[in-house]
Amino acid sequence: MDLEKIMIDLEKHYPGETEYHQAVREVLESIVDVYNQNPHFESSGIIERLIEPDRVLSFKVPWVDDEGRVHVNRGYRVQFNNAIGPYKGGLRFHPSVNLSILKFLGFEQIFKNALTTLPMGGGKGGSDFQPKGKSDKEIMRFCQAFMLELWKIIGPETDVPAGDIGVGAREIGYLYGMYKKLTHEHTGILTGKGLNWGGSLIRPEATGFGVVYFTGEMLATKGLSLEGKTVAVSGFGNVAWGAVTKLNELGAKVVTLSGPDGYIYDEAGISGEKIKYMLELRASNEDVVQPFANEFSSAVFIRDKHPWEVKCDIAIPCATQNELDADDASKLINNGCACVCEGANMPCTPEAIEIFRKNKILFAPGKAANAGGVATSGLEMSQNSMKIMWTREEVDVRLHQIMSAIHKSCVKNGMKPNGEVDYVKGANIAGFLKVANAMIDQGIV
Ligand code: NDP
Repeated sequence: MDLEKIMIDLEKHYPGETEYHQAVREVLESIVDVYNQNPHFESSGIIERLIEPDRVLSFKVPWVDDEGRVHVNRGYRVQFNNAIGPYKGGLRFHPSVNLSILKFLGFEQIFKNALTTLPMGGGKGGSDFQPKGKSDKEIMRFCQAFMLELWKIIGPETDVPAGDIGVGAREIGYLYGMYKKLTHEHTGILTGKGLNWGGSLIRPEATGFGVVYFTGEMLATKGLSLEGKTVAVSGFGNVAWGAVTKLNELGAKVVTLSGPDGYIYDEAGISGEKIKYMLELRASNEDVVQPFANEFSSAVFIRDKHPWEVKCDIAIPCATQNELDADDASKLINNGCACVCEGANMPCTPEAIEIFRKNKILFAPGKAANAGGVATSGLEMSQNSMKIMWTREEVDVRLHQIMSAIHKSCVKNGMKPNGEVDYVKGANIAGFLKVANAMIDQGIV
């Protein structure tokens, strides 16, 4: 594989799509040896076919606000690869959304979904719509307008979207309602649905729970556990909430949360009523981080900074891409952090990951560590197909087993001669081999 030539071609075709380039480069660097050892990958054009999405739908989303003003947002669905199952991946509503971000997320999703052991291809979608500060009715009108285009290319056996940043249970409900009206069908077309109409227990918690299960597996390889560890978490959303909940259950102390405008440090630990209050604030649709600090005397708000400057044993970034850079990585190492587990997608920059590698600390990439969310979406699809609902315990056991299986795959494929595990390499190779071999079985299509 001529990695540099592939990257130059990609950058030439898609100038400025830096997140997409970053995600492709990271995967190719990990798999280049395996690729070169198997000439049939090259003769089947696997890389060229894998790094290009199957299709990209881009559409206009006009909607009307409560004052009667018309707004137009941009909507997208990137269907990246369906070699092992229907396209599957979340919808993100955030002003930063563009095709570069969605292509990076869709590309990552291919390998993440392959790692889950479930039959799901990779996709992603969303809009540059800002849900924050909008009324409930405005959110509903926007979701309906978005689905008026999206429904044309999705289906329960074709492409099954879910939530992501800015898309939670409420948005999934409004999107589902419109899909149902348009198709006259009540099918498992979206995951993250309400429990009364096809949702799965544990789905809201699954990504955060899975990240914590994965962290526990990594620590166990060193004879350690989460009990008594101090953890810095970023974000204040769905993933952060699930992670904080499970970390507390397993005896760890969480000392930070964050938003775009700064972070909260709470030396006493974020647990119990504070986690409940976190949920209340999230539901309020307004700024959340500073009000949280105002509510609890042990919490302080540190404006315009990342939480990676605090003393901690473990860091779990759960907000967004590239939120932890080289400078942050050095601060974490100097403060004694020995394990970083990505809850968000690609939150650590390549330079930060290099620092973790050099310092030999445990580091897990999001495509392995946060796969519990999409895995439980896969379990939701299974329950929908069978028209049954598993108990909370049944889903949690399956989620735990899947996270252990992903950890095992990473160890198997990422074990270095010195006995250390390169989780980035392990995750990329395991995901790649599954998808590439399926593509070869299915011919050039
Ligand atoms: P939410 O919208 O629930 O929460 C996102 C959090 O990150 C919010 O606290 C948000 O703050 C904060 N945030 C968003 N953009 C920025 C930014 N530019 N700088 C700093 N903070 C920011 O999203 P999720 O918790 O669902 O997703 C978080 C991450 O996890 C994303 O990378 C997502 O792709 C990934 N992920 C999510 C899964 C899921 O099941 N939900 C599954 C797998 C991965 P604010 O609201 O104030 O903007």
